[in-house]
Amino acid sequence: MPDHPGNLHIDELRLMAARMIGSGSLPVAISHRLYAGMGRGLPCGVCGQRIESEQVEYEVPDPRGGGGSICFHLRCHSAWQLECLRRLPPRPAERVESTGEAQSDSIRPTTGTGNSP
Ligand SMILES: [Zn+2]
Repeated sequence: MPDHPGNLHIDELRLMAARMIGSGSLPVAISHRLYAGMGRGLPCGVCGQRIESEQVEYEVPDPRGGGGSICFHLRCHSAWQLECLRRLPPRPAERVESTGEAQSDSIRPTTGTGNSP
């Protein structure tokens, strides 16, 4: 099997995944649900090759909705998720909110301390 995706380096698969994301063929989303099973001969969402019955198929419900799902080889799924992680903001909840109030006036002058009453 010269075209087995297992022969491709993960970097090549990531490049393919990046291209699929760039062309809109794949969404940028972290898959919280996925179903693993034996291949059913469906084309992989990253490399486009058939997932044969002796290979593991990862099926992800399409995050864009529509009730569809996307199938991947194990390594192709990893490559896709790595590319998604790279594109997604690391922590969306950790945004710094600027209130507009400058709080630089709170520096108190230190006057001769050292003697406690
Ligand atoms: Zn694949």
